[in-house]
Amino acid sequence: MGEANEPVENAERLWMLCAEALHNQVNEATWKTWFDGIRASWADDEQVVLSVPSSLVKERLESRYLTLVREVLADATGKQLAIRLVVDTDAAGEQPPLPLPPPSAAATEKPPPPAAARQGQWEPDQSRAAEQALSVDTDYTFDAFVTGPSNRFAHAAARSVAETPGKSYNPLYIHGGVGLGKTHLLHAIGNYVRDNFRGRLVRYVPSETFLNEFVDAIRTNTTPAFKRRYRECHLLLVDDVQFMEGKEGLQEEFFHTFNELHQTSRQIVITSDRPPNSFTTLDDRLRSRFMSGLTATVQPPDLETRLAILRSKAGEEAATKHSDVLEYIADNVKDNIRQLEGALTQVLAHASVYGQHLTVELAEEVLFDLFGTNQPRPITPRVILDATASLFGFAVEDICGTSRRRPLVTARQISMYVFRHVTDYSYPAIAREFGGRDHTTVIHAVEKISTLMKEKRQIYDQVNELMARISSGG
Ligand code: ADP
Ligand code: MG
Repeated sequence: MGEANEPVENAERLWMLCAEALHNQVNEATWKTWFDGIRASWADDEQVVLSVPSSLVKERLESRYLTLVREVLADATGKQLAIRLVVDTDAAGEQPPLPLPPPSAAATEKPPPPAAARQGQWEPDQSRAAEQALSVDTDYTFDAFVTGPSNRFAHAAARSVAETPGKSYNPLYIHGGVGLGKTHLLHAIGNYVRDNFRGRLVRYVPSETFLNEFVDAIRTNTTPAFKRRYRECHLLLVDDVQFMEGKEGLQEEFFHTFNELHQTSRQIVITSDRPPNSFTTLDDRLRSRFMSGLTATVQPPDLETRLAILRSKAGEEAATKHSDVLEYIADNVKDNIRQLEGALTQVLAHASVYGQHLTVELAEEVLFDLFGTNQPRPITPRVILDATASLFGFAVEDICGTSRRRPLVTARQISMYVFRHVTDYSYPAIAREFGGRDHTTVIHAVEKISTLMKEKRQIYDQVNELMARISSGG
């Protein structure tokens, strides 16, 4: 790399090659949404710097597409280059990108080996440190983990283990449904230990990988190396241990690894989709090991936690500006935080790609596309208004309009009452859906219909009929 601007030209050439290869590997929508705006601003023997147009794109690339980009770059250069993503809101290539500061540990995917490690009890070599850095996802930290009643205990247990590895709860066993933060907590422990206890070897492994490596080791006669790899770590993070069920040889091997680590006070953290005692074909010895430490669960988050997660992912500014959209998403995506994130990302991306305003209607459409018709149809303002319109024979415009004709007013009030009872919407939020009225109108309507339901059979029946139609999809 002689001339000063050579890395810039290299970068442009390299990216032209890679862009084409990437374009061939993803569909057109994905290409347009996530890749089209990328420019390469620097490429040398060690790293490639890619300028991306927004932090949203950066996050998505990091969470979904980095492996693909890495592979394409490796194909083009024959090297494993570190990839650094930089958000650049101006059209990237037009600015002189020189000179770049040396990448900081936080900004690159391959931090340099920690200095303290070299003096520590255990001396990692370069490649080990890199391997270690790759196995723990640096985005999944405790800071990025939002707590609420559904995960507070698991979070506290994970923190405690991270702060005093091998000394508090060993093993820590975290279980719960899909997309509720188990893997995130596992990496958070890994990141914390790596950052605060230099020289400790941290290893994260999904149990399928453990299985594959085990099988490979047997096939290639390298079981001693395999055993060493796992028995030398100070912190072993095993994800989704349910995949070990029914695989006896693997369980046996893991049992010995477990014992060896445990006896020397090395920390083990395990996640699974179920509690240890509900495995049917798990080695009893392993089951009792799993139960010998602390067990913690993660549950689906409540509405408030879902909103807090969305706010934290969207960023403060977007969260304030589009609180109605976030509320809508939080209201409708309930069981799975991965889906919650996915919904937010899609809605934001949709608005930015098509230059549309971010509105609840847009969110409604995108979510409908995302989750399709298999999902029970979310109860949206539109569903309620349409059902009201068809039950009472008015147009939605009339229901949201200003006319005070008697039967129309009653229909509107019943609709507000039902709205209040089948959704978590606040009075002001409901008032907005009915053409931007004052929220006291809604309060009045809800009170009035509650009273009338006790006095008039007809009102009672209409309320029930409307609720039934809404819950069956409008
Ligand atoms: P699991 O391993 O339980 O299936 P993950 O840990 O992969 O779930 O979580 C799915 C996604 O949701 C990840 O992107 C993760 O960062 C995010 N997530 C889960 N729980 C939280 C939380 N409490 N705060 C912020 N993000 C979370
Ligand atoms: Mg997981």
